[in-house]
Amino acid sequence: MPRVRFAPSPTGFLHIGSARTFIFNWLYARHEHGTMILRIDDTDADRNTRESETSIFEGLQWLELDWDEQYRQSERLELHGQVAQAIFRKGLAYRDFTPAGAEEEKSRQEGAWLFNAEMRELSAEESDRRAAAGEPFVLRFRVPRDSPRDIRFRDSVYGEQSKSTADIEDFALLRSNGLPTYHMASCADDIDLGISHIIRGQDHLTNTFKHVLIFEAAGAAIPEFAHLPLLIAPDGSKLSKRRHGPVVSVTTYRDAGFLPQAFVNFVCLLGWSPKDDRDRMSVQEMVDAFSFEGINRSNAVVNFREDDPFDPKAVWLNAQHLMALAPEDLAGRLLPFLRAAGFEAEPGKLLRVAPLIRERIKTLRDVATAADFFFASELAPYDSAELIPQKGDAAMALLVLRAALPVLAAAEFTHPALDAALRAEAQRLGVKAGQMFQPIRVAVCGRKAAPPLFETLEVLGRETCLHRVDRAIHLLESRNEAVSHVDS
Ligand code: GLU
Repeated sequence: MPRVRFAPSPTGFLHIGSARTFIFNWLYARHEHGTMILRIDDTDADRNTRESETSIFEGLQWLELDWDEQYRQSERLELHGQVAQAIFRKGLAYRDFTPAGAEEEKSRQEGAWLFNAEMRELSAEESDRRAAAGEPFVLRFRVPRDSPRDIRFRDSVYGEQSKSTADIEDFALLRSNGLPTYHMASCADDIDLGISHIIRGQDHLTNTFKHVLIFEAAGAAIPEFAHLPLLIAPDGSKLSKRRHGPVVSVTTYRDAGFLPQAFVNFVCLLGWSPKDDRDRMSVQEMVDAFSFEGINRSNAVVNFREDDPFDPKAVWLNAQHLMALAPEDLAGRLLPFLRAAGFEAEPGKLLRVAPLIRERIKTLRDVATAADFFFASELAPYDSAELIPQKGDAAMALLVLRAALPVLAAAEFTHPALDAALRAEAQRLGVKAGQMFQPIRVAVCGRKAAPPLFETLEVLGRETCLHRVDRAIHLLESRNEAVSHVDS
């Protein structure tokens, strides 16, 4: 059974690229009935923050995908040290006592720094003596030099990879403060946790040669690797927290009213496609269809704009997923957005409203503008000209609305009964049905573009409808007065 891990470093919010790495690991684990592990890579004490860790968890929890095991790298330092020591005892690592900074200087002078011969060749006695005297050192991997060989591995996405040891520097396993480097901690943990597949960003592809050296030196099996193509901005630059800011944060999507399953759907199509090229997929469909073969090597573009942070495809998918939600689920997700917009929404009523507006919203946040008239006690001011039906005039609007009042007062308040009664009234008045319905729609909704009229009336209830139609009549009357005043 595969064991995979997502290993974020808590140095910022959960980036859309990291979310994709999580999602691909998760999809693979679930597809293969394997184990999904979350490992917080928090050994870089200078760059880690608690806020960042909190925001990573916040982002992951929002995705509504789970994980089976959880670890924190900083609690496993002893293990990292033990694996490093084991490599050292085999003669595959050495102590480098070069003072901090000196080697950096060297690499700047000479280009690619590979190793410091003096340190590499230090005798065991001298190395032990200096270490015992407390002189700080970096523990470096002794990359084979005498007869360079190619380090090879097969990446499930990028294919055969190879690099000569002659091009790999003697990289550090432990820093001079004794703490493991990313390479050491990551490999020691991957070995200890029995990670079978390492799925991560393409930016780690070149690190993998070093990791293969560590796995070999530690006598561990080499896991399978799958590196994921880069995510890029429309201008071709690599998507980054620093450069692109909140546009690339997962919580930006959450706060804008995206559904987690739509976001997961969007993100999983960044660099992967199912065999049949479907777009909209449920989470289960993604799990069923997922395979490394569907991952392509070219960079994937996230199409945000200066004035719109959201890729049109993400918005489209979100609208599709909104349509697929059960009414209770939809209403439950809309509620916080409605409340955040200041409406005292009653859940029972929202459950009736949700199916009426779902075709009119692209994000959950749109509920505040699409359903406001259901929840506001008074309509926002609207232009009384909107009440005038097509091929009609203000007099016709008045006639229709005045006639609607007794119908609304007497009819059974269900949508079929209202439909029948108002149609009959239109016929009696000699106006087209549309000429009857539009003034009523605008009177109760405050706009022409609104959900189906009779269902809307039913949900609003008799009292509100009567009140709003009455107000519309007053509006038209004062408009008529103003008009006749100008005429005279
Ligand atoms: N902490 C590393 C990162 O965030 C993990 C890389 C890996 O998966 O090995 O890039």
